[in-house]
Amino acid sequence: MSDIRRKVAIVPCSGIGKPYGTVSREAGYDLCEDLRPDTTELVALSRLVMGDETARQTVAKFPAIAIDGCKLMCAAKMVRQSGGTVAQEVAVLDVYRHHKDLKPEGIAELNDAGLQLARVLAEEVTEKIDELAPPDTRRGEGGSHG
Ligand code: SF4
Repeated sequence: MSDIRRKVAIVPCSGIGKPYGTVSREAGYDLCEDLRPDTTELVALSRLVMGDETARQTVAKFPAIAIDGCKLMCAAKMVRQSGGTVAQEVAVLDVYRHHKDLKPEGIAELNDAGLQLARVLAEEVTEKIDELAPPDTRRGEGGSHG
């Protein structure tokens, strides 16, 4: 309501049953819960598919970063179909190509390499988020290291 700060909608693909899809969801959590909680809004792909009004409004209002587990790019397509703008399309496979040592395995639960790949992907995306929705510098961040 009164908080009209610019944010970025993060839309990971649902990717159920595929490790790369699970990486996209995990990266979404890393971004929205951990790395950039103040400037992002997580939108579940399933809610967009169901036509959920709140989810549609979020992608209509904020630029979106779609994170997809395979070349079908379900998240990016769904954002566009919902009237949103995809500011960046991220493919888990592209990130994996640069980090071949981090092969994701497991579906319900990712292996450590998969979790690390999600983290690397999320960290790469923060640059774009900060460009679209600059962090609030008035808060005087202490500069924490993880
Ligand atoms: S982009 Fe690929 S992995 Fe993700 S939901 Fe679509 S088909 Fe599944």
